[in-house]
Amino acid sequence: MSGLSGVLVYPNVKEVAFASLGFLKVFEMFRRKLGLADISYLPQDRTDEVVSKKKGLLLGASSRTEVSSFDVVALSVAYENDFVHIPELLGMAGIPPLASERTDVFPLVVCGGFTMSSNPLPVADFIDAGVIGEAEVVIDRLLGVVDNARVYARSKAELLEEIGGIEGVYVPTLGGKKVRRVWAETESIAAEPLKQEASHFGDMFLVEVGRGCGRGCRFCAAGNLYRPVRMRSGEIVMDRCADHRKVGLVGTAVGDHPDIVPIVEWLEGEGRRVGISSLRADQVSPHVAGLLAACGVRTIAIAPETGSERLRRRIGKGITRKQIFDAVSYLSAAGIRTIKLYFMIGLPGETDKDVEAIVSLVSELGGVRGKSKLSVAVGPFVPKPHTAFQWAAFAERKTLRERYKILREIRRFTGCSLKLASIDEAWTEAILARGDRSLSTALLEAAVTHRPLKTFLKQGRMRDPHEELDTRKPLPWDFIDSGVSKKRLLDEYAS
Ligand code: SF4
Repeated sequence: MSGLSGVLVYPNVKEVAFASLGFLKVFEMFRRKLGLADISYLPQDRTDEVVSKKKGLLLGASSRTEVSSFDVVALSVAYENDFVHIPELLGMAGIPPLASERTDVFPLVVCGGFTMSSNPLPVADFIDAGVIGEAEVVIDRLLGVVDNARVYARSKAELLEEIGGIEGVYVPTLGGKKVRRVWAETESIAAEPLKQEASHFGDMFLVEVGRGCGRGCRFCAAGNLYRPVRMRSGEIVMDRCADHRKVGLVGTAVGDHPDIVPIVEWLEGEGRRVGISSLRADQVSPHVAGLLAACGVRTIAIAPETGSERLRRRIGKGITRKQIFDAVSYLSAAGIRTIKLYFMIGLPGETDKDVEAIVSLVSELGGVRGKSKLSVAVGPFVPKPHTAFQWAAFAERKTLRERYKILREIRRFTGCSLKLASIDEAWTEAILARGDRSLSTALLEAAVTHRPLKTFLKQGRMRDPHEELDTRKPLPWDFIDSGVSKKRLLDEYAS
Protein backbone atom coordinates (compact mmCIF):
# COMPACT_ATOMS: atom_id res chain seq x y z
CA MET A 1 0.00 0.00 0.00
CA SER A 2 2.84 2.33 -0.89
CA GLY A 3 0.51 5.00 -2.24
CA LEU A 4 -1.61 5.22 0.90
CA SER A 5 -0.87 7.59 3.77
CA GLY A 6 -2.16 7.52 7.34
CA VAL A 7 -1.72 9.51 10.53
CA LEU A 8 -2.51 8.12 13.96
CA VAL A 9 -3.77 10.78 16.35
CA TYR A 10 -3.97 10.43 20.14
CA PRO A 11 -6.62 12.67 21.74
CA ASN A 12 -4.43 13.71 24.64
CA VAL A 13 -0.97 15.21 25.14
CA LYS A 14 2.30 13.68 23.92
CA GLU A 15 3.40 12.09 27.24
CA VAL A 16 0.07 10.27 27.56
CA ALA A 17 0.12 9.21 23.89
CA PHE A 18 3.57 7.64 24.14
CA ALA A 19 2.63 5.82 27.35
CA SER A 20 -0.09 3.90 25.45
CA LEU A 21 1.42 0.67 24.18
CA GLY A 22 -1.70 -0.02 22.09
CA PHE A 23 -1.27 3.33 20.32
CA LEU A 24 2.43 2.65 19.66
CA LYS A 25 1.65 -0.81 18.29
CA VAL A 26 -0.96 0.52 15.85
CA PHE A 27 1.50 3.17 14.70
CA GLU A 28 4.09 0.44 14.06
CA MET A 29 1.50 -1.39 11.91
CA PHE A 30 0.84 1.84 9.97
CA ARG A 31 4.58 2.37 9.51
CA ARG A 32 5.09 -1.10 8.05
CA LYS A 33 2.10 -1.03 5.73
CA LEU A 34 1.75 2.52 4.44
CA GLY A 35 3.82 4.67 2.10
CA LEU A 36 3.64 7.55 4.57
CA ALA A 37 2.76 7.06 8.25
CA ASP A 38 2.92 9.61 11.02
CA ILE A 39 1.75 10.31 14.52
CA SER A 40 0.07 13.31 16.09
CA TYR A 41 -1.56 14.22 19.39
CA LEU A 42 -3.29 17.00 21.30
CA PRO A 43 -0.92 19.98 21.35
CA GLN A 44 -0.22 21.66 24.70
CA ASP A 45 -0.48 25.05 23.00
CA ARG A 46 0.13 26.75 19.65
CA THR A 47 3.91 26.51 20.06
CA ASP A 48 3.78 22.68 20.15
CA GLU A 49 5.76 20.86 17.43
CA VAL A 50 2.52 19.41 15.95
CA VAL A 51 1.10 22.86 15.17
CA SER A 52 2.15 24.63 11.96
CA LYS A 53 3.69 28.03 12.59
CA LYS A 54 1.99 29.79 9.71
CA LYS A 55 -1.54 28.44 9.61
CA GLY A 56 -1.83 26.98 13.13
CA LEU A 57 -2.99 23.64 11.69
CA LEU A 58 -2.39 20.18 13.20
CA LEU A 59 0.64 18.37 11.74
CA GLY A 60 2.16 14.90 11.77
CA ALA A 61 5.04 15.01 14.28
CA SER A 62 7.78 13.62 11.98
CA SER A 63 6.74 14.53 8.45
CA ARG A 64 5.25 17.90 9.42
CA THR A 65 2.58 17.16 6.84
CA GLU A 66 -0.83 18.65 7.57
CA VAL A 67 -3.07 15.99 9.15
CA SER A 68 -5.86 16.85 6.69
CA SER A 69 -3.74 15.77 3.73
CA PHE A 70 -3.37 12.13 4.89
CA ASP A 71 -5.70 9.56 3.33
CA VAL A 72 -6.55 8.03 6.69
CA VAL A 73 -6.82 9.94 9.97
CA ALA A 74 -7.06 7.34 12.73
CA LEU A 75 -7.83 8.29 16.32
CA SER A 76 -7.23 5.96 19.24
CA VAL A 77 -9.46 6.73 22.23
CA ALA A 78 -8.92 4.86 25.47
CA TYR A 79 -10.93 7.11 27.82
CA GLU A 80 -14.41 8.58 27.41
CA ASN A 81 -13.34 11.96 28.77
CA ASP A 82 -11.09 12.30 25.70
CA PHE A 83 -14.16 12.18 23.39
CA VAL A 84 -14.31 15.96 23.42
CA HIS A 85 -10.86 16.08 21.85
CA ILE A 86 -12.07 14.27 18.71
CA PRO A 87 -14.04 17.22 17.25
CA GLU A 88 -11.41 19.57 18.71
CA LEU A 89 -8.52 17.82 16.91
CA LEU A 90 -10.45 17.49 13.65
CA GLY A 91 -11.20 21.22 13.83
CA MET A 92 -7.52 21.97 14.51
CA ALA A 93 -6.62 19.91 11.46
CA GLY A 94 -9.03 21.92 9.28
CA ILE A 95 -11.25 18.85 8.81
CA PRO A 96 -15.01 19.41 9.32
CA PRO A 97 -15.74 17.61 12.62
CA LEU A 98 -19.15 16.33 11.49
CA ALA A 99 -18.88 13.34 9.14
CA SER A 100 -22.03 14.52 7.34
CA GLU A 101 -20.13 17.64 6.22
CA ARG A 102 -17.23 15.65 4.79
CA THR A 103 -18.23 14.79 1.23
CA ASP A 104 -14.71 14.03 -0.08
CA VAL A 105 -13.62 10.41 0.21
CA PHE A 106 -10.38 11.43 1.94
CA PRO A 107 -9.35 11.90 4.63
CA LEU A 108 -11.26 8.94 6.02
CA VAL A 109 -11.69 9.39 9.79
CA VAL A 110 -11.45 6.07 11.64
CA CYS A 111 -11.56 5.65 15.40
CA GLY A 112 -10.27 2.75 17.49
CA GLY A 113 -9.35 2.10 21.10
CA PHE A 114 -11.14 0.73 24.12
CA THR A 115 -14.03 3.21 24.09
CA MET A 116 -15.10 2.07 20.61
CA SER A 117 -15.63 -1.50 21.83
CA SER A 118 -17.52 -0.14 24.81
CA ASN A 119 -19.84 2.43 23.21
CA PRO A 120 -18.90 4.57 20.20
CA LEU A 121 -22.28 6.35 19.96
CA PRO A 122 -21.38 9.72 21.55
CA VAL A 123 -18.76 10.26 18.79
CA ALA A 124 -20.59 8.45 15.96
CA ASP A 125 -21.39 11.77 14.24
CA PHE A 126 -17.68 12.63 13.96
CA ILE A 127 -16.24 9.38 12.60
CA ASP A 128 -16.59 7.54 9.29
CA ALA A 129 -15.84 4.17 10.91
CA GLY A 130 -15.01 2.68 14.30
CA VAL A 131 -12.97 -0.43 15.04
CA ILE A 132 -14.80 -2.63 17.56
CA GLY A 133 -12.10 -4.81 19.08
CA GLU A 134 -8.42 -5.30 18.42
CA ALA A 135 -6.63 -3.59 15.54
CA GLU A 136 -4.49 -6.61 14.58
CA VAL A 137 -7.58 -8.41 13.24
CA VAL A 138 -8.96 -5.54 11.18
CA ILE A 139 -6.13 -3.36 9.99
CA ASP A 140 -4.94 -5.25 6.88
CA ARG A 141 -8.42 -5.61 5.44
CA LEU A 142 -9.47 -2.07 6.32
CA LEU A 143 -6.39 -0.44 4.80
CA GLY A 144 -6.65 -2.74 1.75
CA VAL A 145 -10.23 -1.62 1.08
CA VAL A 146 -9.27 2.05 1.54
CA ASP A 147 -6.31 1.65 -0.81
CA ASN A 148 -8.57 0.09 -3.48
CA ALA A 149 -11.00 2.98 -3.11
CA ARG A 150 -8.10 5.37 -3.71
CA VAL A 151 -6.78 3.46 -6.74
CA TYR A 152 -10.20 2.90 -8.35
CA ALA A 153 -11.63 6.30 -7.33
CA ARG A 154 -14.63 4.84 -5.48
CA SER A 155 -17.27 7.14 -4.01
CA LYS A 156 -17.47 7.66 -0.27
CA ALA A 157 -20.77 5.75 -0.09
CA GLU A 158 -19.20 2.77 -1.90
CA LEU A 159 -16.16 2.85 0.37
CA LEU A 160 -18.26 3.01 3.57
CA GLU A 161 -20.51 0.19 2.36
CA GLU A 162 -17.47 -2.02 1.78
CA ILE A 163 -15.82 -1.08 5.09
CA GLY A 164 -19.07 -1.85 6.88
CA GLY A 165 -18.83 -5.42 5.59
CA ILE A 166 -15.56 -6.04 7.47
CA GLU A 167 -16.08 -7.94 10.70
CA GLY A 168 -15.37 -5.69 13.70
CA VAL A 169 -15.98 -2.42 11.85
CA TYR A 170 -18.83 -0.07 12.74
CA VAL A 171 -19.97 2.45 10.14
CA PRO A 172 -22.42 4.95 11.67
CA THR A 173 -24.05 5.83 8.34
CA LEU A 174 -25.09 2.20 7.90
CA GLY A 175 -27.37 2.32 10.94
CA GLY A 176 -27.35 0.14 14.03
CA LYS A 177 -26.53 -3.23 12.48
CA LYS A 178 -24.93 -5.77 14.82
CA VAL A 179 -21.11 -5.59 15.03
CA ARG A 180 -19.15 -8.40 16.62
CA ARG A 181 -16.13 -7.42 18.73
CA VAL A 182 -13.01 -9.02 17.24
CA TRP A 183 -9.90 -10.16 19.09
CA ALA A 184 -6.48 -11.41 18.05
CA GLU A 185 -5.22 -14.94 18.66
CA THR A 186 -2.33 -14.99 21.15
CA GLU A 187 0.26 -15.53 18.42
CA SER A 188 -1.14 -12.60 16.42
CA ILE A 189 -0.73 -10.05 19.23
CA ALA A 190 1.43 -7.37 17.62
CA ALA A 191 5.07 -7.08 18.64
CA GLU A 192 6.26 -4.02 20.54
CA PRO A 193 7.85 -1.32 18.39
CA LEU A 194 11.59 -1.46 19.09
CA LYS A 195 11.87 2.28 19.53
CA GLN A 196 9.61 3.76 22.19
CA GLU A 197 9.83 7.46 22.96
CA ALA A 198 10.02 8.68 26.53
CA SER A 199 6.56 9.02 28.04
CA HIS A 200 5.25 9.64 31.52
CA PHE A 201 6.76 6.21 32.33
CA GLY A 202 10.18 7.76 31.62
CA ASP A 203 12.52 5.60 29.53
CA MET A 204 10.86 2.30 30.47
CA PHE A 205 10.39 -0.13 27.56
CA LEU A 206 6.82 -1.46 27.64
CA VAL A 207 6.15 -5.15 26.97
CA GLU A 208 2.67 -6.66 26.77
CA VAL A 209 2.47 -9.97 28.65
CA GLY A 210 -1.07 -10.80 27.58
CA ARG A 211 -4.65 -9.65 27.18
CA GLY A 212 -7.81 -10.42 29.06
CA CYS A 213 -8.68 -11.23 32.65
CA GLY A 214 -10.79 -14.15 33.78
CA ARG A 215 -11.72 -12.80 37.22
CA GLY A 216 -15.05 -11.29 36.24
CA CYS A 217 -15.35 -8.31 38.61
CA ARG A 218 -18.84 -6.95 38.01
CA PHE A 219 -17.84 -3.32 37.54
CA CYS A 220 -14.90 -3.94 35.21
CA ALA A 221 -15.24 -3.19 31.50
CA ALA A 222 -11.70 -4.36 30.71
CA GLY A 223 -12.52 -7.75 32.21
CA ASN A 224 -15.28 -8.24 29.62
CA LEU A 225 -13.97 -6.34 26.60
CA TYR A 226 -10.53 -7.96 26.47
CA ARG A 227 -11.90 -11.50 26.64
CA PRO A 228 -10.78 -14.22 26.16
CA VAL A 229 -7.69 -14.47 28.34
CA ARG A 230 -4.61 -14.75 26.14
CA MET A 231 -1.16 -14.88 27.69
CA ARG A 232 1.98 -14.74 25.58
CA SER A 233 4.50 -17.46 26.38
CA GLY A 234 7.19 -16.69 28.94
CA GLU A 235 9.84 -17.11 26.19
CA ILE A 236 8.22 -14.48 23.98
CA VAL A 237 7.90 -12.03 26.88
CA MET A 238 11.55 -12.55 27.84
CA ASP A 239 12.60 -12.22 24.22
CA ARG A 240 10.79 -8.87 23.97
CA CYS A 241 12.50 -7.68 27.17
CA ALA A 242 15.98 -8.51 25.82
CA ASP A 243 18.30 -5.52 25.37
CA HIS A 244 16.27 -3.23 27.61
CA ARG A 245 17.58 -2.11 30.98
CA LYS A 246 14.19 -0.93 32.28
CA VAL A 247 11.11 -2.93 31.37
CA GLY A 248 7.46 -2.20 32.14
CA LEU A 249 5.26 -5.30 32.05
CA VAL A 250 1.75 -4.39 30.95
CA GLY A 251 -1.50 -6.25 30.32
CA THR A 252 -5.05 -6.55 31.62
CA ALA A 253 -3.95 -8.87 34.44
CA VAL A 254 -0.14 -8.99 34.55
CA GLY A 255 -0.01 -10.94 37.81
CA ASP A 256 -2.18 -13.71 36.34
CA HIS A 257 0.45 -14.64 33.75
CA PRO A 258 1.29 -18.29 34.57
CA ASP A 259 5.04 -17.56 34.21
CA ILE A 260 5.13 -14.15 35.86
CA VAL A 261 7.40 -15.35 38.69
CA PRO A 262 10.00 -17.02 36.39
CA ILE A 263 9.89 -13.97 34.09
CA VAL A 264 10.60 -11.54 36.95
CA GLU A 265 13.21 -13.94 38.41
CA TRP A 266 14.97 -13.95 35.04
CA LEU A 267 14.81 -10.15 34.81
CA GLU A 268 16.22 -9.87 38.32
CA GLY A 269 19.04 -12.31 37.48
CA GLU A 270 19.87 -10.19 34.44
CA GLY A 271 20.08 -7.08 36.59
CA ARG A 272 17.14 -5.35 34.86
CA ARG A 273 14.82 -2.86 36.45
CA VAL A 274 11.15 -3.75 36.25
CA GLY A 275 7.90 -1.81 36.41
CA ILE A 276 4.57 -3.45 37.27
CA SER A 277 1.91 -0.93 38.09
CA SER A 278 -0.46 -3.13 40.06
CA LEU A 279 -1.06 -6.64 41.40
CA ARG A 280 -4.05 -8.32 42.94
CA ALA A 281 -3.62 -8.71 46.70
CA ASP A 282 -3.93 -12.50 46.36
CA GLN A 283 -0.91 -12.59 44.04
CA VAL A 284 1.53 -11.02 46.51
CA SER A 285 3.68 -13.57 48.38
CA PRO A 286 6.87 -12.83 50.36
CA HIS A 287 8.86 -14.16 47.37
CA VAL A 288 7.03 -11.97 44.81
CA ALA A 289 7.35 -8.90 47.03
CA GLY A 290 11.10 -9.56 47.50
CA LEU A 291 11.61 -10.07 43.76
CA LEU A 292 9.86 -6.83 42.90
CA ALA A 293 11.93 -4.89 45.43
CA ALA A 294 15.13 -6.49 44.04
CA CYS A 295 14.13 -5.31 40.53
CA GLY A 296 13.86 -1.72 41.68
CA VAL A 297 10.10 -1.50 42.15
CA ARG A 298 9.50 1.28 44.68
CA THR A 299 5.74 1.71 44.32
CA ILE A 300 3.04 -0.86 43.72
CA ALA A 301 -0.74 -0.66 43.77
CA ILE A 302 -3.30 -3.11 45.02
CA ALA A 303 -7.03 -2.51 44.69
CA PRO A 304 -9.23 -3.59 47.59
CA GLU A 305 -11.93 -1.50 45.76
CA THR A 306 -14.09 -1.19 48.88
CA GLY A 307 -13.81 -1.52 52.64
CA SER A 308 -16.24 -4.25 53.63
CA GLU A 309 -16.12 -7.95 52.81
CA ARG A 310 -19.86 -7.82 52.05
CA LEU A 311 -19.55 -5.20 49.32
CA ARG A 312 -16.34 -6.75 47.95
CA ARG A 313 -18.29 -9.97 47.42
CA ARG A 314 -21.22 -8.07 45.85
CA ILE A 315 -18.97 -6.44 43.24
CA GLY A 316 -17.27 -9.74 42.46
CA LYS A 317 -13.82 -8.72 43.73
CA GLY A 318 -12.72 -12.06 45.07
CA ILE A 319 -10.10 -10.96 47.57
CA THR A 320 -10.36 -11.15 51.32
CA ARG A 321 -9.42 -8.81 54.14
CA LYS A 322 -6.69 -11.25 55.19
CA GLN A 323 -5.20 -11.23 51.67
CA ILE A 324 -5.10 -7.41 51.72
CA PHE A 325 -3.34 -7.39 55.11
CA ASP A 326 -0.88 -10.09 54.00
CA ALA A 327 -0.09 -8.23 50.76
CA VAL A 328 0.63 -4.96 52.58
CA SER A 329 2.83 -6.63 55.19
CA TYR A 330 4.81 -8.64 52.57
CA LEU A 331 5.36 -5.55 50.41
CA SER A 332 6.39 -3.52 53.43
CA ALA A 333 8.77 -6.23 54.70
CA ALA A 334 10.38 -6.36 51.23
CA GLY A 335 11.08 -2.61 51.38
CA ILE A 336 8.51 -1.30 48.85
CA ARG A 337 8.40 2.41 49.66
CA THR A 338 4.86 3.27 48.64
CA ILE A 339 1.85 0.98 48.57
CA LYS A 340 -1.03 2.48 46.66
CA LEU A 341 -4.51 1.38 47.68
CA TYR A 342 -7.31 1.95 45.16
CA PHE A 343 -10.93 2.24 46.27
CA MET A 344 -14.23 3.23 44.69
CA ILE A 345 -17.27 4.80 46.30
CA GLY A 346 -20.84 5.04 45.05
CA LEU A 347 -20.99 1.33 44.24
CA PRO A 348 -24.43 -0.32 43.89
CA GLY A 349 -25.69 -1.32 47.33
CA GLU A 350 -23.12 0.83 49.17
CA THR A 351 -24.00 2.55 52.43
CA ASP A 352 -22.10 4.99 54.64
CA LYS A 353 -21.01 1.99 56.69
CA ASP A 354 -19.10 0.54 53.72
CA VAL A 355 -17.28 3.85 53.36
CA GLU A 356 -16.52 3.96 57.07
CA ALA A 357 -15.12 0.45 56.57
CA ILE A 358 -12.57 1.91 54.10
CA VAL A 359 -11.40 4.30 56.83
CA SER A 360 -11.14 1.43 59.36
CA LEU A 361 -9.34 -0.81 56.88
CA VAL A 362 -6.73 1.86 56.10
CA SER A 363 -6.35 2.64 59.79
CA GLU A 364 -5.70 -1.02 60.59
CA LEU A 365 -3.35 -1.42 57.62
CA GLY A 366 -1.35 1.37 59.26
CA GLY A 367 -0.41 -1.28 61.83
CA VAL A 368 1.28 -3.52 59.24
CA ARG A 369 2.69 -0.91 56.84
CA GLY A 370 6.07 -0.78 58.62
CA LYS A 371 8.16 1.92 56.92
CA SER A 372 6.08 1.89 53.73
CA LYS A 373 3.80 4.80 52.97
CA LEU A 374 0.16 4.11 52.18
CA SER A 375 -1.11 6.20 49.31
CA VAL A 376 -4.89 5.90 49.21
CA ALA A 377 -6.72 6.86 46.01
CA VAL A 378 -10.50 6.95 45.86
CA GLY A 379 -12.75 7.68 42.91
CA PRO A 380 -16.47 7.44 42.19
CA PHE A 381 -17.71 4.22 40.58
CA VAL A 382 -18.73 4.85 36.95
CA PRO A 383 -21.14 2.29 35.42
CA LYS A 384 -19.76 1.01 32.11
CA PRO A 385 -21.43 -0.75 29.16
CA HIS A 386 -20.96 -4.53 28.79
CA THR A 387 -20.56 -5.04 32.55
CA ALA A 388 -22.98 -6.50 35.06
CA PHE A 389 -23.29 -3.02 36.57
CA GLN A 390 -24.16 -1.32 33.24
CA TRP A 391 -27.72 -0.70 34.50
CA ALA A 392 -26.63 0.77 37.86
CA ALA A 393 -27.03 4.43 38.74
CA PHE A 394 -24.11 6.81 39.10
CA ALA A 395 -24.39 7.94 42.72
CA GLU A 396 -25.80 11.41 43.47
CA ARG A 397 -23.03 13.99 43.64
CA LYS A 398 -24.26 15.10 47.06
CA THR A 399 -23.89 11.54 48.36
CA LEU A 400 -20.40 11.27 46.88
CA ARG A 401 -19.36 14.56 48.47
CA GLU A 402 -20.66 13.40 51.85
CA ARG A 403 -18.79 10.11 51.52
CA TYR A 404 -15.61 11.97 50.62
CA LYS A 405 -16.05 13.84 53.93
CA ILE A 406 -16.05 10.49 55.76
CA LEU A 407 -12.87 9.50 53.95
CA ARG A 408 -10.97 12.71 54.82
CA GLU A 409 -10.32 11.16 58.24
CA ILE A 410 -7.61 9.13 56.45
CA ARG A 411 -5.52 12.31 56.07
CA ARG A 412 -4.99 12.26 59.85
CA PHE A 413 -3.33 8.81 59.83
CA THR A 414 0.46 8.78 60.09
CA GLY A 415 2.19 7.57 56.92
CA CYS A 416 -1.00 7.81 54.82
CA SER A 417 -1.94 10.17 52.05
CA LEU A 418 -5.35 10.48 50.42
CA LYS A 419 -6.21 11.46 46.87
CA LEU A 420 -9.85 11.96 45.93
CA ALA A 421 -10.70 11.91 42.23
CA SER A 422 -12.80 14.68 40.76
CA ILE A 423 -16.53 14.02 41.16
CA ASP A 424 -17.26 16.32 38.19
CA GLU A 425 -14.94 14.36 35.90
CA ALA A 426 -16.48 11.06 36.98
CA TRP A 427 -19.97 12.52 36.39
CA THR A 428 -18.94 13.54 32.85
CA GLU A 429 -17.44 10.09 32.26
CA ALA A 430 -20.68 8.46 33.47
CA ILE A 431 -22.70 10.49 30.95
CA LEU A 432 -20.33 9.81 28.05
CA ALA A 433 -19.83 6.10 28.80
CA ARG A 434 -23.56 5.33 28.53
CA GLY A 435 -24.47 8.10 26.12
CA ASP A 436 -25.98 8.05 22.67
CA ARG A 437 -25.62 10.14 19.53
CA SER A 438 -27.47 13.10 21.05
CA LEU A 439 -24.26 13.92 22.96
CA SER A 440 -22.45 14.97 19.78
CA THR A 441 -24.01 18.45 19.97
CA ALA A 442 -22.55 19.06 23.44
CA LEU A 443 -19.16 17.63 22.43
CA LEU A 444 -19.04 19.86 19.38
CA GLU A 445 -20.08 22.97 21.30
CA ALA A 446 -17.39 22.33 23.92
CA ALA A 447 -14.76 21.73 21.23
CA VAL A 448 -15.63 24.88 19.28
CA THR A 449 -15.91 27.20 22.28
CA HIS A 450 -13.04 25.64 24.32
CA ARG A 451 -15.31 25.70 27.35
CA PRO A 452 -15.68 22.75 29.75
CA LEU A 453 -17.92 19.97 28.43
CA LYS A 454 -20.00 19.97 31.60
CA THR A 455 -21.27 23.45 30.65
CA PHE A 456 -23.09 21.86 27.70
CA LEU A 457 -24.31 18.70 29.40
CA LYS A 458 -27.73 19.91 30.41
CA GLN A 459 -30.82 18.25 31.76
CA GLY A 460 -33.16 17.24 28.98
CA ARG A 461 -30.34 16.89 26.43
CA MET A 462 -29.03 13.64 27.85
CA ARG A 463 -29.90 10.66 30.00
CA ASP A 464 -29.76 11.38 33.73
CA PRO A 465 -26.68 9.42 34.89
CA HIS A 466 -28.17 9.13 38.39
CA GLU A 467 -31.05 6.95 37.16
CA GLU A 468 -30.86 3.17 37.24
CA LEU A 469 -31.54 1.81 33.73
CA ASP A 470 -34.55 -0.40 33.08
CA THR A 471 -33.23 -3.94 32.62
CA ARG A 472 -36.18 -4.81 30.35
CA LYS A 473 -35.43 -2.10 27.80
CA PRO A 474 -32.83 -2.29 25.03
CA LEU A 475 -29.56 -0.43 25.66
CA PRO A 476 -28.09 1.96 23.06
CA TRP A 477 -24.92 -0.17 22.75
CA ASP A 478 -26.77 -3.48 22.32
CA PHE A 479 -25.70 -3.46 18.64
CA ILE A 480 -22.19 -4.41 19.82
CA ASP A 481 -21.80 -8.13 20.35
CA SER A 482 -19.13 -8.08 23.06
CA GLY A 483 -19.01 -11.86 23.34
CA VAL A 484 -20.59 -11.81 26.83
CA SER A 485 -24.30 -12.63 26.92
CA LYS A 486 -26.72 -10.05 28.27
CA LYS A 487 -28.46 -12.79 30.23
CA ARG A 488 -25.26 -13.54 32.13
CA LEU A 489 -24.78 -9.85 32.93
CA LEU A 490 -28.40 -9.57 34.06
CA ASP A 491 -28.04 -12.62 36.33
CA GLU A 492 -24.93 -11.15 37.91
CA TYR A 493 -26.59 -7.76 38.37
CA ALA A 494 -29.55 -9.38 40.08
CA SER A 495 -27.50 -11.62 42.38
S1 SF4 B 1 -10.81 -5.38 38.11
FE1 SF4 B 1 -8.87 -6.40 37.64
S2 SF4 B 1 -9.15 -8.48 38.42
FE2 SF4 B 1 -11.20 -7.60 38.21
S3 SF4 B 1 -11.90 -8.19 36.16
FE3 SF4 B 1 -10.95 -6.16 35.99
S4 SF4 B 1 -8.85 -6.57 35.40
FE4 SF4 B 1 -9.68 -8.48 36.21
